[in-house]
Amino acid sequence: MPVQRDPLIRGSGLTSPRVRERLIERLQAAGIRDARVLEAIRRTPRHLFVDEALAGRAYEDTALPIGHGQTLSQPYTVARMSEAILRDGVPGKVLEIGTGSGYQTAILAHLTNQVFSIERIKALQDQARERLRLLERFNVRLRHADGWQGWSAHAPYDAILVAAAPDTLPPRLVEQLAEGGRMVIPVGPQGGTQKLLMIRREAGELREQVLEPASFVPLISGALA
Ligand code: SAH
Repeated sequence: MPVQRDPLIRGSGLTSPRVRERLIERLQAAGIRDARVLEAIRRTPRHLFVDEALAGRAYEDTALPIGHGQTLSQPYTVARMSEAILRDGVPGKVLEIGTGSGYQTAILAHLTNQVFSIERIKALQDQARERLRLLERFNVRLRHADGWQGWSAHAPYDAILVAAAPDTLPPRLVEQLAEGGRMVIPVGPQGGTQKLLMIRREAGELREQVLEPASFVPLISGALA
């Protein structure tokens, strides 16, 4: 695995494998049980997804700024959403909205066959692309577009993961969910009560389950940056 050989990827000091293992223990203590998810987190160097100045905090279980007013999600949240996506089996095709740093994208690329990911801020997308290349996660396609619209050319998706919160469920995303598919999405106002929802399409019907309270940056509709 290149992950173990390259010193940059392997990390040292506060980014060493030992420090990373402590994050795994913290996630287990917080209730993350899926061994596949824990292994994906173990093998994905989070310190490469933030600015060098923040690398020493990369294995704390906390959200970190990635510029442009955006944040890299907390590891617990990434783990929880990934677990929810995998619960009924490994999805073949996943759509992610809000690539951001590319960290959750890299985890999904490790866990599933094919990942399509949309980001509205071009500069973030460019950085994410570089990181995914460095980590040799090649089963990912990135697109600079408005995630509200989904990515109809590759629909339907077995799973959809949304990393930013809309006020209501975006109808185009719901349309692009395959029969038997599941979507994990935070819904609710900024600064108000957001809920992390699991939406499943079963026998043509949508079923909604609240997973837990959430706190995400807004899903912005329309204008690209
Ligand atoms: N999973 C990412 C989280 C990034 S924060 C990570 O771990 O780094 C959410 C991201 O959603 C931001 O990068 C933001 O620019 C993006 N976003 C917000 N509205 C969007 C939209 N309509 N379409 C695509 N991306 C959007």
